[in-house]
Amino acid sequence: MEENKNCALCPRRCGADRTKGEGVCGCGALPRVARVMIHKWEEPVISGEFGSGAVFFTGCPLGCVFCQNGDISRRENAGKAGRTMTEDDLADTFSALAEKGAQTLDLVSPTPFTDLLIRAVRKARGRGFSLPVVWNTGGYERPETVASLRGTADVFLTDFKFLSPDLSRRLTGVSDYGEFAAASLCEMVKIAGAPAIGEDGIMKSGVVVRHLVLPGQKEDSIATLNKIADTVGADSVLLSLMSQYTPEFYRKTGEERLDRAMSRRVTTYEYETVREEALRLGFDGFMQERDSATAAFTPEWDK
Ligand code: SF4
Repeated sequence: MEENKNCALCPRRCGADRTKGEGVCGCGALPRVARVMIHKWEEPVISGEFGSGAVFFTGCPLGCVFCQNGDISRRENAGKAGRTMTEDDLADTFSALAEKGAQTLDLVSPTPFTDLLIRAVRKARGRGFSLPVVWNTGGYERPETVASLRGTADVFLTDFKFLSPDLSRRLTGVSDYGEFAAASLCEMVKIAGAPAIGEDGIMKSGVVVRHLVLPGQKEDSIATLNKIADTVGADSVLLSLMSQYTPEFYRKTGEERLDRAMSRRVTTYEYETVREEALRLGFDGFMQERDSATAAFTPEWDK
């Protein structure tokens, strides 16, 4: 798939000619990188003891109204934040992160630059780069785009945010999130296989599915976990069940009931109810400490 003309990389298939302007995701022809860092706060199998080598791209095909990274992900910010990088710049950056001791290469919001990143990873590998490559995505992916990552992505770190088309529409503007998240998850498991963890505790291949429990939405969380288990099997992935929703980032939609629910944090009861369902379904993975629900976990950009 070619991203730069008539782009159809993500389920929006907006058809933008990105050589002339930006698509719905806010991305032009070349990626803008908001931050390159050693990142210690991903799941332990991704960050290890030293940290992942994270490369944060600006822009996002989804645009959730509760995004913690809105400063770099929202369409209106995507073309301003960070700096432009070429394929060669990125290949050099990947090698530099490995030399610094990063334990994985963690590509955050990479989808609008799939083709260029495939080439950049190939280039870096040609020079000896050998870290596991983590495709860190919001889960709004086309299976065809995911299929093109065979031989590039070793690990998928993907969200499965919600299942209900109505909830998806209210929080992102698209109603087909759950449908595409499920279809692309199948493709990810096909490519990356069952979770394989090395002796160093780092995931070498496989899929980690993140689910953030949202306030007032525990029924949809339970439906989402059941969908994951029915679609690929609970033992095919590691589950990362998150409680860190922070209302500070929520952009009101004008829907009174939704806005009221989303203006608070998740309760212990809500999180525990969803956690019990995850255990009942047989998921293995990671649970988040309840006191990690703070805006202080959002990195500063432009560094
Ligand atoms: S990746 Fe961006 S430009 Fe491409 S189809 Fe999706 S929204 Fe449009």
